[in-house]
Amino acid sequence: MINRQIEELAHGVYDKLVDLRRHFHRHPELSYHEFNTTQRIVEELEPLGYEVHRPLETGCIAVLKGGVEADRVLALRADIDALPMEEEGDYKADFLSQVPGVAHCCGHDLHTANLLGVAHILSSLQEQIPGTVVLIFQPGEEKPPGGARLLMETGLLQRLGVQAIYGLHSYPYGQVGEVSLIKGPMMARPDEFVLKVIGKGGHAAIPQKAIDPVVISAQIITVIQSIVSRSVNPLESAVVTIGKIAGGTVCNVIPDSVIMLGTIRSFSEELSERISRQIEQTATGIANAAGASIAYELIKGYPAVVNTPWAVDALEQTAAGLPGVRAVPLAEPIMAGEDFAFYQQEFPGSYMYLGTGSPQAGSDTWNWHHPCYNTDERAMITGMCLMAALVFNPKSTQSKS
Ligand SMILES: [Zn+2]
Ligand SMILES: [Zn+2]
Repeated sequence: MINRQIEELAHGVYDKLVDLRRHFHRHPELSYHEFNTTQRIVEELEPLGYEVHRPLETGCIAVLKGGVEADRVLALRADIDALPMEEEGDYKADFLSQVPGVAHCCGHDLHTANLLGVAHILSSLQEQIPGTVVLIFQPGEEKPPGGARLLMETGLLQRLGVQAIYGLHSYPYGQVGEVSLIKGPMMARPDEFVLKVIGKGGHAAIPQKAIDPVVISAQIITVIQSIVSRSVNPLESAVVTIGKIAGGTVCNVIPDSVIMLGTIRSFSEELSERISRQIEQTATGIANAAGASIAYELIKGYPAVVNTPWAVDALEQTAAGLPGVRAVPLAEPIMAGEDFAFYQQEFPGSYMYLGTGSPQAGSDTWNWHHPCYNTDERAMITGMCLMAALVFNPKSTQSKS
């Protein structure tokens, strides 16, 4: 019964959401600078009866107390920031970014409009909602330290008593109507490191008077590639990649130093730290043997996204009650990072991939962060219905007491 009402309300608000999504798409704002975006979100929420909090400079938290007394506080999250890049694409011709060098090429415009749609639906059904709903319009997903981390540090969500959190990301490889789910690890920890090899420069033809950091770096790169294959349990996932190496200027000069930037991807902080220690020890050993030294720094990224099994069950069960929504298993975790993980360090919950791929929208080809990345707006019907229906599924939270 409630699901039928949700579906009707979703269809009723859909045209407005398409306009909103295109508005956000035309006027993208960079991480932590989402001032106009936030203003537009707040304008939309306030007439709907939400209590709006602004704990950070941008983004907002909207709270709605339901009419049915219940020990339940459910949070739903959308990220609102855009990327520092130019976009292109015929399918988006009507609403391309009007801001040079900034574009919504990760679908956060759709996430934002979708959660505003959920806000509309829930406001119409307020009297029937059990407990409290917290809608999070989060800034700065694309840029460390991560808006999710900053929000968690304000303590507001903890004070509101959030019991479970759910969020979604547009997914080009899922069809409209689908939502892809996975229990446990879903997205990796993206940690980074900077490794500098410090030798002694000199003439390229008199190597015995120099300590050549180029040769030492070549050895280090080769040897650290065996850390994952020889020191990590084959049943655990990890990647070590050196993405940049820089040193030297011309062919006849041995440089003083070489600098390398790399990334460690894994699903646990403990494993990442262990790999990092091994990189540092290996590099130190090789450099010292040649009379050189190293400077090493690990820059920690977002934690891994790990979904609570009962929250995934709740999503599956909710989807099964909605005729237009199909829950499909996500075949394997993805090594990309996502700051939703910061919420999951304190709250149970699940992230999900909302199928936004279709030939009509040209959105089934290009991956996240590609200039042509697009989302099929009809996916918002699926996203809205699923998120709104989750509020009415008693299994979507577990009381702390
Ligand atoms: Zn992104
Ligand atoms: Zn994204």
